[in-house]
Amino acid sequence: RQSLRVGLIPADGIGHEVIPAARDALLALGSSIPKPQFVDLLAGFDLFTRTGEALPEETVQALTNDCDCALFGAVSSPSQKVAGYTSPIVALRKKLDLYANIRPVSSVSEIPGQPPKVDLMVVRENTECLYVKQETMTTGEHGKEARATRLITERASRRIGKMAFEMALLRPKKQVTIIHKSNVLSVTDGLFRETVRGVPKLPEVAGKYDSVTIAEQIVDSAVYRLFREPEIFDVMVAPNLYGDILSDAAAALVGSLGLVPSVNAGDKFVMGEPVHGSAPDIAGKNIANPIAAIRSAALMLRHLGYPDGADRIDKAVDEVLRGDPLALTPDLGGKGTTKAVTDAILKLI
Ligand code: NAD
Ligand code: MN
Repeated sequence: RQSLRVGLIPADGIGHEVIPAARDALLALGSSIPKPQFVDLLAGFDLFTRTGEALPEETVQALTNDCDCALFGAVSSPSQKVAGYTSPIVALRKKLDLYANIRPVSSVSEIPGQPPKVDLMVVRENTECLYVKQETMTTGEHGKEARATRLITERASRRIGKMAFEMALLRPKKQVTIIHKSNVLSVTDGLFRETVRGVPKLPEVAGKYDSVTIAEQIVDSAVYRLFREPEIFDVMVAPNLYGDILSDAAAALVGSLGLVPSVNAGDKFVMGEPVHGSAPDIAGKNIANPIAAIRSAALMLRHLGYPDGADRIDKAVDEVLRGDPLALTPDLGGKGTTKAVTDAILKLI
C-alpha cells in the first residue's frame, strides 16, 4: 500500500471533538504506516435535521469505493421515534457487512510489563439479534401490544464465533466465553451457543483453535461476575444486544466510557469507533476524553495489519494515563481539556 485512505465521519456531538484527535494520532505516526489520506464524510442526526437524510448515499459510496478503512465518531439517536430517521451507524454496519464489533477493555498496568487488572475483549455480533429493528405495534384486549423480532442465524453466529476464536489466539489467556441466556431463550440463544461451540469442530478450521479454552456464562450472572472478578474473562462473545450492554458495563471497570475503543470489522472493511455515544451533556466544551477515539484508530491499524503503528499509539496513551491525573479529562477526575490530552499523546507518539 502506498497510502491509507481513511474515511472520517465525526457525525454528532463529541464526535466532532474526538475524531480530529484520532486523525492527528494517525498523522503523528509519520512513515511507520502508509501515508494517510483523509476523506471527510457526512452522517448523523444533525445532518438529518438539516437535510432529511442521516446517511447519504454518497457517504456509503465513498466508503465502499474510495476508502480502505474509516473512523466513526458517534450519533445522537433520539430515544423517541422520529419519522424517517434510523441510526446511520446501525445502517452502516449492515450495509458494509461489518459483522463483528470488537471491543477490548483493559486497565493500564500499574507497573509496566505486569498484567493489568482488567484485560478482556467483548466480541459482539453486529448485524442481527434485536437490532434487525423489526418492531410492530398492534392493539389487543389489554391495550397496545409491542413486539420485536429477534433474529439469530447460524451463519452470523458462526462467523462471529470464528472471529472470537481468532482474537483469542492473539491473547495470552486464549479463552472464549460464550454469553447467552439459553436457559430461557432456548431457541434463539440456544442456536447462538451451539453454533459458537461448534466452531472449533468445523472441518475448515481443522485443529486451529485447539489451544483455545471454551467457557460459557449466562448473561446476567456474567455481568455480576464481570464486576466481582473481571480477571476470569478473556474474550466474551455475545449476540448484539448483550454485547452492547456488556461492553458499556465493562467500560465502568476501567474508569470511563471515554477510554474504550472498538472496531466494526467485516471481511473487507474495518471502521474504528469509540464505544461511547455523542455525549450531548459535554459536547462543545473541549472536555471530551479523546482516548477512546485515539485507541480506536490504533485498533483499526491493528486489524489492517500495522501492529507497530498501533503499539506506538497505545504506548503513548498508556504513558499519559499513568502520568499526572489532573492532566486527564474530567471523566477521569482531571482538569485537562480534549486538546491538552491529545497534544500530550501526540508528543509521545
Ligand atoms: P454516551 O456514551 O453519549 O454518554 C454516557 C455518559 O458518558 C455521559 O455522561 C457522557 O458525558 C459520558 N461520556 C461518553 N463519552 C465520553 C468521553 N469521550 N469523554 C468523557 N465523557 C464521556 O451515552 P448516552 O448519554 O446514553 O447517549 C447519548 C447519545 O448518544 C444518544 O443519542 C445515543 O443514542 C447516542 N449513542 C450513540 C452511539 C453510537 O454512535 N455508536 C452509542 C451510544 C449512544
Ligand atoms: Mn452502546
